[in-house]
Amino acid sequence: MKLFFTGHGEKYAVEQTLLTLFPQERPVYPDEPPGGDNELELAFSRGPVWCTASAVLRRAGKPYARQCRVKTADLPPEDPVLATRLTRRTLQRAFYLAAVDCLGAEPPWGMLSGVRPVKLPTRAMEAGATPRQAEAELRDRYRVSPERRRLAMDCAKASLAVKGALKPEEVSLYVGIPFCPTRCAYCSFISSSGSANRLIPDYLEALFREIDRAGQALLAAGRRVRTVYIGGGTPTTLTGDQLRALLDRLHTAFRLDPGTEFTVEAGRPDTITRDRLAAIRDGGGNRISVNPQTMSDKVLSLIGRSHRAEDIRRAYALAREMDAGYINMDLIAGLPGDDAGGFRHTLDQVLDMGPENITVHTLALKKGARLKQEDLVLPDGPAVAAMLDFAWARLRAAGYEPYYLYRQKFMSGSFENVGWCLPGTGSEYNICMMEELHTVLSLGAGGVTKGVAEGCVKRLANPKYPQEYIRGIDEILAEKQNFFAF
Ligand code: SF4
Repeated sequence: MKLFFTGHGEKYAVEQTLLTLFPQERPVYPDEPPGGDNELELAFSRGPVWCTASAVLRRAGKPYARQCRVKTADLPPEDPVLATRLTRRTLQRAFYLAAVDCLGAEPPWGMLSGVRPVKLPTRAMEAGATPRQAEAELRDRYRVSPERRRLAMDCAKASLAVKGALKPEEVSLYVGIPFCPTRCAYCSFISSSGSANRLIPDYLEALFREIDRAGQALLAAGRRVRTVYIGGGTPTTLTGDQLRALLDRLHTAFRLDPGTEFTVEAGRPDTITRDRLAAIRDGGGNRISVNPQTMSDKVLSLIGRSHRAEDIRRAYALAREMDAGYINMDLIAGLPGDDAGGFRHTLDQVLDMGPENITVHTLALKKGARLKQEDLVLPDGPAVAAMLDFAWARLRAAGYEPYYLYRQKFMSGSFENVGWCLPGTGSEYNICMMEELHTVLSLGAGGVTKGVAEGCVKRLANPKYPQEYIRGIDEILAEKQNFFAF
């Protein structure tokens, strides 16, 4: 979409709103004057009493115009941060209202464009607002739908409960294993598969060095690990012996307490074997994921997964038999070839298995995903909405509650990913990481360490690809050392 600005330069904020409302569009800043189609003119003018944001959106030959005002006195030059925030919000609101006229409906999250909508009510309640007031802010200021407000409020309460239990010296630990047996069609992660998996031994050697260094630095700083998450990729691409060595190393380097929340994302059922499950359990792992995404064999093959629904049942039963701890199962709404009936069938089958946690994702197709290039028919926004509506009602009726959520760009219908749990079984790591409640130390390729202190977040990213990580390990170790000055 062509964007024309007058009287302001709020590119980033406007682009976020654009991607939320029109996920298929990308911003373009042309040299020619406005007056064509698929374009937005967005102006900000300052008068003695009112400042006015004016949006004119032109789509499919029709103009949609809206204005929003804010009192000039409310934008004090002596408080530029507040003035910028209100200017931005007024511009976004004018654009949003014009877009809603054009689309004929409000998006489920209203004007909210960020990936962490739960932070708003959490912060409001920490600042003294009652739950009712925090929810009213979502409704009145951001126009969030009733269902999403309920989700956000439930997750905010879970976040506050975990935050209250955290000790100041605690951190979480993420370890990335960016390898998979094969590549799924919707995947945009940096994950190697096939012949690239020959790098695994060298990768583990570099990773073990980082684990040792990070462990020393963390303990010297008087910090402790509260939760551990081994993610990917598919960590169970590693053999049982490699997993044993990895878990041992983590225990030794970080002196983990017995019973530390410890998740291994087993993920794909084709990698879940008796030997690997034993390695995880004996190494202190007490949570795993067995991720079907869908229980439809037809959809599984369309998304490039080599397993079948029966393999998921087998992997789940094996994990129970091996006493692997709490089990999470990931589902995706909006996959190619799926529909509301198929999604219902998937959820019912997963509920029949009885995992403690179920994470309902909405398909988000990013640049690197093979599906983007393929000519497959995806369920439209209303179909995805029907899947999610059913999921929420069914999950609540089965005793699950939402405990964390996040949104992504390029997501079907501007929805969200939601983690559901049986009471008392939610993953603290997921809440800590998503709500940025404390420092998450990330090791391995693609890991982004986030140091959280006094409400600020400082990031340190490791190289994305395993080869770069292996080559650059000496510099990575030096950077990590400095980071631990905390
Ligand atoms: S298992 Fe996950 S990380 Fe691996 S290819 Fe599939 S979507 Fe990507």
